[in-house]
Amino acid sequence: MSDRLPGFSTLAVHAGAQPDPTTGARATPIYQTTSFVFNDADHAASLFGLQSFGNIYTRIGNPTNAVLEERVAALEGGTAALAVASGHAAQVVVLQQLLQPGDEFIAARKLYGGSINQFTHAFKSFGWNVVWADPDDITTFERAVSPRTKAIFIESIANPGGSITDIEAISTVARKAGVPLIVDNTLASPYLIRPIDHGADIVVHSLTKFLGGHGNSLGGIIVDAGTFDWSTGGKYPMLSEPRPEYHGIRLQETFGNFAFAIACRVLGLRDLGPALSPFNAFMILTGIETLPLRMQKHCDNAKAIAEFLAGHPAVASVSYAGLPGDKYNQLARKYAPRGAGAVFTFSLKGGYDAGVSLVSKLQLFSHLANVGDTRSLVIHPASTTHSQLDDAAKIKSGAGPDVVRLSIGIEDKEDLIADLEQALSA
Ligand SMILES: *Cc1c(COP(=O)(O)O)cnc(C)c1O
Repeated sequence: MSDRLPGFSTLAVHAGAQPDPTTGARATPIYQTTSFVFNDADHAASLFGLQSFGNIYTRIGNPTNAVLEERVAALEGGTAALAVASGHAAQVVVLQQLLQPGDEFIAARKLYGGSINQFTHAFKSFGWNVVWADPDDITTFERAVSPRTKAIFIESIANPGGSITDIEAISTVARKAGVPLIVDNTLASPYLIRPIDHGADIVVHSLTKFLGGHGNSLGGIIVDAGTFDWSTGGKYPMLSEPRPEYHGIRLQETFGNFAFAIACRVLGLRDLGPALSPFNAFMILTGIETLPLRMQKHCDNAKAIAEFLAGHPAVASVSYAGLPGDKYNQLARKYAPRGAGAVFTFSLKGGYDAGVSLVSKLQLFSHLANVGDTRSLVIHPASTTHSQLDDAAKIKSGAGPDVVRLSIGIEDKEDLIADLEQALSA
């Protein structure tokens, strides 16, 4: 072996995987089993007491999932990762390690619609209070910090408008407040942005989107950067205090720079239960092998389509950070030099009715609530994903009534442009 550190594309194909030691199988097998035989009683006891690592039961860990975890940790530059059943499950498991009832976390207002719902309603019933801030005005994050703040949550490339968040500026606020920065990196994927390089302490993904990439399997993942000291000030008792579930061990003291990933597994996933199916882990691993190729094509197509729309007479405006002159173009050049992602919005001169009508006339674009598929997708957020918000909140989160969101696939861009052309002129 040479001393060279493997590059991103090599890691996307190989990280975490080895030929199967018993059969020689080269692709990672699907270990479709609920449970694993112990060597003897001592082995079983040491696994249950966290004195040794190994497989017990697929709700807590599985060898197929472990390859996925190691691969995404490598691609993101983290110390360890935990795969779970969905992106939303990842968010619940992360915050459960950080917040006690009555605590607060600060979240950027520009988020996936489902996350806005989860934070506003479901988390409130756990006693976790979200405080919203504006990612375009860093002072709103500074002002939102209180003694009960336990974390800051942002998206790297934000739904629905594809805006780019100034991760470094917000990580400075988090560091000053003594709380971890959580970055949802779903729309960028580590091919475009590696948030840990810019100060993130925890990265979460919906693997359902670009990482899996084919619109066929749900999944989520949590990546621990290993950067945060959980022991200061007793703010994070799940990590710093003795755990009664495990003979009184302290997770930070025992596991050091991957204590957060361990907490998510042995306290979060074990007790809340949103385990990823090994079959889905296999599908997502296969998707990740082509992530660099797909992501570049997604971005190149998106830029061509954004340029086409910007020159179309029926279009009022295009919000794509990859366009020179876009409000987020400077941030895109800094954080995502390979491309500004493939999810963006544009608005129609004809307003709400024109948006609804365009969606119904497109043929190659599928009208559905997903992003990051090989296929191109379209949705009208105001009547669907963001419909629960009032008009002011819709506009603030980038989902005004005239806005249409595209997720550009990897088809031939000429065919996508022709489809948009016929639907816009109809
Ligand atoms: C889809 C999505 C989620 C939620 O992920 P699921 O896998 O659907 O649970 C979270 N954040 C972003 C940015 C997403 O696009």
